[in-house]
Amino acid sequence: MFDLCMGSLVAGAVFAPHCMRAADNEVAVAAAGKVDAKYLSYPVYDGDDLGLTVNGSTALFRLWSPEAQAVKLNIYNQGRGGEPVETMEMTKRDKGTWVATINPVPYGKFYTFQVKVGGKWLDETPGIWAKAVGINGHRAAIIDLESTNPEGWAADKGPQVKAINDVVLYEMHHRDFSVHPNSGIANKGKFLAMTEDGTVTPLGDKTGIDHLKELGVTHVHILPSYDYNSVDETNLPANQYNWGYDPYNYNAPEGSYSTNPSDPATRIKEMKEMVKALHDAGIGVVMDVVYNHTADNDRSNFSLTAPGYFYRHNEDGSYSDASGCGNETASERGMMGDFIVNSVKYWAKEYHIDGFRFDLMAIHDTETMNRVAAALKEINPSTFIYGEGWTAGGSPLPVDARALKENVAKMNGVAVFSDDIRDAVKGHYSDAADRGFATGKPGNEETVKIGIVAATAHPQVDYSKGNNSKFPYASSPSQIINYVSCHDDLTLTDKLAKSMPGATEAERQRAARLAQTIVFTSQGTPFMFAGEEVFRDKKGVHNSYKSPDSINAIDWNLKHLNADQFNYYKELIALRKAHPAFRMTSAADIARHLKFDKVNTPNLISYSLLDNANGDQWKEIKIVFNGADTAAEVKLPKGNWTVVARDGKLNHTGLLNADGSLQTLAGGKTVVEPRSALILYR
Ligand code: CA
Repeated sequence: MFDLCMGSLVAGAVFAPHCMRAADNEVAVAAAGKVDAKYLSYPVYDGDDLGLTVNGSTALFRLWSPEAQAVKLNIYNQGRGGEPVETMEMTKRDKGTWVATINPVPYGKFYTFQVKVGGKWLDETPGIWAKAVGINGHRAAIIDLESTNPEGWAADKGPQVKAINDVVLYEMHHRDFSVHPNSGIANKGKFLAMTEDGTVTPLGDKTGIDHLKELGVTHVHILPSYDYNSVDETNLPANQYNWGYDPYNYNAPEGSYSTNPSDPATRIKEMKEMVKALHDAGIGVVMDVVYNHTADNDRSNFSLTAPGYFYRHNEDGSYSDASGCGNETASERGMMGDFIVNSVKYWAKEYHIDGFRFDLMAIHDTETMNRVAAALKEINPSTFIYGEGWTAGGSPLPVDARALKENVAKMNGVAVFSDDIRDAVKGHYSDAADRGFATGKPGNEETVKIGIVAATAHPQVDYSKGNNSKFPYASSPSQIINYVSCHDDLTLTDKLAKSMPGATEAERQRAARLAQTIVFTSQGTPFMFAGEEVFRDKKGVHNSYKSPDSINAIDWNLKHLNADQFNYYKELIALRKAHPAFRMTSAADIARHLKFDKVNTPNLISYSLLDNANGDQWKEIKIVFNGADTAAEVKLPKGNWTVVARDGKLNHTGLLNADGSLQTLAGGKTVVEPRSALILYR
């Protein structure tokens, strides 16, 4: 990455010299219509001291606002209310920045910036680089970040990941996971919930971090945990709920997840304690990041800093809206792209975050995502970067430049969610009643196979028959996240209830097991939504982003009620972790070692992982999925097969007979029970 400074890029430009990031130039020009063209000439400031920097006994404040006529710095005694104890005029410096210094560092105080543009003073803002904030995030706080480090923080490290496909992702919202009265957790809905050992339900089942250890997932993926807008931190007893896809301060944690949102250090310290507790348990932490849009338009911290610059616009000057949330950011512009890169770097370094899930990633350009991945891998080679390879609406960003699922091969070290396997296995996400392969709807077989081979080129997969994508978009299985459900849309439990209305709960649980067995044995990285292992539901609410705890909380008594379901998931994860054949590292290996059998029965897929694939101890693993509600028959080669999964049961070291011996099969005609997976090895 390098900067190229040009004399004059746009005729009549105000600023000189004009610094443009060379690699982004082409995309930025293509994305800028006549309304946004002026931003091409804005200077890029590439220093790392935006916001507040402490140098010895001096506090340096720096704000980037190239169009500002004047900038004020307000100092307060408190995080909200009251008058400024001091207001300073900031001084214009290089590359569109404004600076002020205070000596000695006024620790314990709060600050805001205020920008004058077009002859008008805008509202106060903590800026876009506030690393500590007061209640509800309206003012930035001056604290000693070092003092927020838990004991042993310097030695804290997330799990080392040898190959990205070794990761098992568990997507979790802080309140969902701990807030139910029977969670046995004291710090309900808080970062600290994860730091509690030995928590159990009234029925004695493990909850919290012990539950995660028991389940065996390698990484927790936490829903947005930066400071978001919707939950009023001054009124925590109201128990407001929100997923948090309404970013306010990108570089400070959310206050409502802390035990004291009015103390700026507490949320930081408690989030770090959560990370450390998970790391101590060998579990990595992935954070959901939402740089693609902000909660507010004109009143966002971006708009109050440099109005217009950070967003894309339509030709009529209105905000373009690829996020479906009222605006979209402009990663192709120097300062926005840099902001994303520097922000994730900050979370990786200061909070030891092990991975980032990019919301609506295709609103960003591939070049920015490549910079993100390169910067994070330099800090920690085990960092996992993935995202939603789509937008939620049209965008001025050219399709070729978008970090789309279909463009994932242009990105190095970035993975995308496979909506192919998701919709093919359980039925389409937007039609509650629609069924998929695992629930008996024929015609999805080829798309499920696309999922099984992690969307890589495979001689036996006909992409022209794919429901969603028509070509092998992944060049490596490391680029694919397989899943059947997440926080969005119906939970798997609710989807099965709505699409299998006549079925019993036991039948739906069988379908859920089959669906997840497909995900967890597929090449690529598996991802699951918290609570599916206990068959949690959300009472049929598909968009529960602000639904109360009564909808979103996981009732942990389900772990007792659905103990068989939990054990199946546990064994399924153990199977995947014990067998590298499910985690091949290249498209070539998959093409060579994964062979589909010719079957002509609808809702039936049979394949083998051959020749000790990826160094597996098992020479051949046979995997058969029957999504029909009737038994199917397959012809197995003669041999000494050991049964790992059959008829809705799974044991990663082999199913046992009543006398304790391993279940075996000799091959030949073999029955595969309805809605179940048959897994064998020899
Ligand atoms: Ca907040």
